[in-house]
Amino acid sequence: AVPEVSEVRVALMADKVERRIIAVGSGKGGVGKSTLTTNLAVALANAGRKVGVVDADVYGPSQPLLFGTQNEKHRAEGQTLIPTETEFGVKLLSMGQLIEPGRAIAWRGPMVGQALGQLIEADWGDVDTLLVDLPPGTGDVQLTMLQKFKPAGALIVSTPQDLALIDATRAMDLFRQGEVPIIGLVENMSGYICPHCGETSNPFGHGGTESAAQGLGVPFLGRVPLDMAIRVASDTGQPPAANDLPQGQPFAAIAEQLSA
Ligand code: ADP
Repeated sequence: AVPEVSEVRVALMADKVERRIIAVGSGKGGVGKSTLTTNLAVALANAGRKVGVVDADVYGPSQPLLFGTQNEKHRAEGQTLIPTETEFGVKLLSMGQLIEPGRAIAWRGPMVGQALGQLIEADWGDVDTLLVDLPPGTGDVQLTMLQKFKPAGALIVSTPQDLALIDATRAMDLFRQGEVPIIGLVENMSGYICPHCGETSNPFGHGGTESAAQGLGVPFLGRVPLDMAIRVASDTGQPPAANDLPQGQPFAAIAEQLSA
């Protein structure tokens, strides 16, 4: 039977938990799935959780950049990878650091599955919450997750416009078929505050994700505005959630719902 979302939350709160895997997915690329993963991880760590991030986005591994660890190589003991300790109290393993930066990957399904296994079955130590930044869509990595490393729940990120939401719905459907509860939907790039005049505009529409969540009967976890400061901080390996910036607050509010 599919566990209720509330059970997933209780499990997250419990003191002695087994490692909980939370998948972060999206229908499309470029909607901010990696940015959300990084900042949720940092916010959860700030709230006292032991957090690890698996960057499983084979096609665009961006966690090393987001955490500022792109110059570090992962170590291994025998076949077991040792996660990189980031300066934000979050441990990290990334597909991007298993391969040379800038090289395209033309891996076949079984190889992707094997690499994913190495990342997830690594020496995570006392990590209790493992966030997995998935590639966009519904491909080999998602299938391997469902078959071998079933997440306790999945978070889905979308921008507000219809096209992105259609794909997000498809991504969500795959988890439902795999009996993974949807923790909730997050709307990113939701409203743009003009740095010059302060007026809010909605380049991708407004509120689409929340009404989609309502229609689909899944929780809506919150929205993150389109904000240049988020992009700038992210590009320099300084997640907004780590630095007490106002831009970190939406992420902290979403993280709170994961552990409350
Ligand atoms: P995905 O993982 O879905 O492909 P990313 O997290 O890599 O998306 O984000 C794509 C780009 O958009 C990055 O340059 C990132 O800094 C930027 N970005 C993401 N979310 C926001 C936001 N809320 N405001 C401004 N820029 C954002």
